[in-house]
Amino acid sequence: MYLDTRGVMLRQFSFKSSLLPFNYLRSSAKIHLPIGATMSTFKNQNESTQQQTQKPVQVAKRLEKFKTTIFTQMSTLAIKHGAINLGQGFPNFDGPDFVKEAAIQAIKDGKNQYARGHGVPELNSAIAARFHKDTGLVVDPEKEVTVTSGCTEAIAATMLGLINPGDEVIVFAPFYDSYEATLSMAGAKVKGITLRPPDFSVPLEELKAAVTNKTRAILMNTPHNPTGKMFTREELETIASLCIENDLLVLSDEVYDKLAFEMDHISIASLPGMFERTVTLNSLGKTFSLTGWKIGWAIAPPHLTWGIRQAHSYLTFATSTPAQWAAVAALKAPDSYFKELKRDYNTKKEILVKGLKEVGFKVFPSSGTYFVVVDHTPFGLENDVAFCEYLIEEVGVVAIPTSVFYLNPEEGKNLVRFTFCKDEDTLRGAVERMKQKLKRKV
Ligand code: GLN
Repeated sequence: MYLDTRGVMLRQFSFKSSLLPFNYLRSSAKIHLPIGATMSTFKNQNESTQQQTQKPVQVAKRLEKFKTTIFTQMSTLAIKHGAINLGQGFPNFDGPDFVKEAAIQAIKDGKNQYARGHGVPELNSAIAARFHKDTGLVVDPEKEVTVTSGCTEAIAATMLGLINPGDEVIVFAPFYDSYEATLSMAGAKVKGITLRPPDFSVPLEELKAAVTNKTRAILMNTPHNPTGKMFTREELETIASLCIENDLLVLSDEVYDKLAFEMDHISIASLPGMFERTVTLNSLGKTFSLTGWKIGWAIAPPHLTWGIRQAHSYLTFATSTPAQWAAVAALKAPDSYFKELKRDYNTKKEILVKGLKEVGFKVFPSSGTYFVVVDHTPFGLENDVAFCEYLIEEVGVVAIPTSVFYLNPEEGKNLVRFTFCKDEDTLRGAVERMKQKLKRKV
């Protein structure tokens, strides 16, 4: 830990690995990446015999302060240290056979050339039908649904297609890391409202006070990564009236909507007067345990869909054709599939939550998602990064330090996130390692 010239506390991830170090600077100060950083060095073809000419890595100013994503960092370290990876949120089991078979069939059937830019028509229709079932809203698959390469692309296309430089966008911290990076690409000013433990509820008065005449949108995520918080009806209604009064957009990331355990998921688009100002973002990855397929979508009224499609057209143009056909089959899954998914995840959640409590963590309640946030301070480590470092190197388990998800990293220094999207033996194995090697400081 050290201070920069303005006295801002900086932390550097000090793993002794060759990874590009990231630090937690969240200010406008410039950081120059180290010469020879692994990501973007240029090497001669025959590197073993020729002297290497290394140039400093280069990056446009709008991305200067962002580092290798925490998920990439932690999954790389998991492999390096042979640690059990409860960090990055990807299942270590496969998606359902009927969806995999549909993809194989689509490839065999020759569905392999570019898809229509905004989606294979059958998929746009399946998404609209699913949304109708979930929310009661009837949307036009042709004019109001855009298929993207994962929700992360839908987020980027939404920011780039609808947000102007200088617009203020309100985000709830802690937040998924791509929000800040894509808002930065769009030239937006990010305003953070912090959700605090134990219940991570929305400080409604603070939120109201944050709206100015430059505010363009509120970006929200329910069920919420990393905390597992689900926005209550009361919170959503307050956000909705704030948006209607001030003519704001809502960008709502709902990728964990099928992993809602403690309460029913509510799409803010379904509240009165909200559809016309809401972009609902979702994907296939979490619901069908196929995070690598990268099929996502944005649902929005035509006047907002236009901007999203313009950005999407020039970002990726179209999304993988056979995977889209398989997504059609996935979205037609019977209700029993979704019930079973939830039941399986509930069991996994119980194993992890019970285990973490027995290990000695203070575990915060998680209502949805496949994440749970804990307070690591009973173990006496200085901060979340130091704790995660210790956990990987000495215990052999990977968690995600949460300070990267805040505008002010200090706010996350006591919290780390574990995922339970792993098979039950893996979860039990991780708990066992922690029980044996993590000791509370008394
Ligand atoms: N959404 C996943 C998580 O929070 C990770 C996605 C990614 O690696 N970019 O763990």
